[in-house]
Amino acid sequence: MLQYRDIKTALQDLCIERSDPTIVYASSQLIPQVRGGAQTILGAILGSIDNILMPSFTYRTMVIPEFGPPDNLINYGSGRISNLDAAIFTPELPADFADSQISEIFRNYPDVSRSAHPIFSFLGLGLDSALISQTISDPYGHIRFLQGKDAKIVLLAKDPSALFSLHFCEQVSGRKQFVRWAITQDGIKECPHFPGCPRGFHKILYQLDADMKKTQIVGDPCYSVSLDHLVSTAVALLSTDPYALLCNDLHCEKCNAIRRDIRQKVG
Ligand SMILES: [Zn+2]
Repeated sequence: MLQYRDIKTALQDLCIERSDPTIVYASSQLIPQVRGGAQTILGAILGSIDNILMPSFTYRTMVIPEFGPPDNLINYGSGRISNLDAAIFTPELPADFADSQISEIFRNYPDVSRSAHPIFSFLGLGLDSALISQTISDPYGHIRFLQGKDAKIVLLAKDPSALFSLHFCEQVSGRKQFVRWAITQDGIKECPHFPGCPRGFHKILYQLDADMKKTQIVGDPCYSVSLDHLVSTAVALLSTDPYALLCNDLHCEKCNAIRRDIRQKVG
């Protein structure tokens, strides 16, 4: 059974400085392997890092409208029944993304703030300025805010598909994104720059290689990378290869829509 200090040691191995603003992704698959479970894992994270962001995504706020832009991978008008089950986004709405257990405990920790994006909200401790920078029209505003500030990203037993910052790089590179809609306390809002598919994001590991810190927690790989380095590497990659970081599933609707869009732009 792992202890508090094992998680702290892993974070030390990843060269995370206490004062570095850090976006943390922690997999719930670690929970049964650590004495004290999620509380211990979160305690070790909070005991190692002062300024933290974690995702708190809420997909059940999403609704399907009757009409919208073309090439958006939505069956407009198909949500008349499912829309009735959608939840209104409030700061108290529990997250519902896969693997949200540790983030959910963080959400209830004292002094934790939450950004206001109805689908892609982030939780923050000591990073209110970053949270305010994320808006409905700019879902990557907090990433942009953290550029040039020695920010780090940590993946604790998480796959690189969790790297939301790579969707920011896709936006910067001009890659096609999508439009979705979500219910807020001010009614239904259009949410532009909805990201494509992250299942090819592990391909960035090869590009980062020596600049990425790696360790393991009971066989599960853990990584840390500087946000600035991740962004500069991914943006450069996407500028030389517009098809980079797409997934290899030939039936992936989103990646195929992006490929079509690239071919149209090239043509
Ligand atoms: Zn895909």
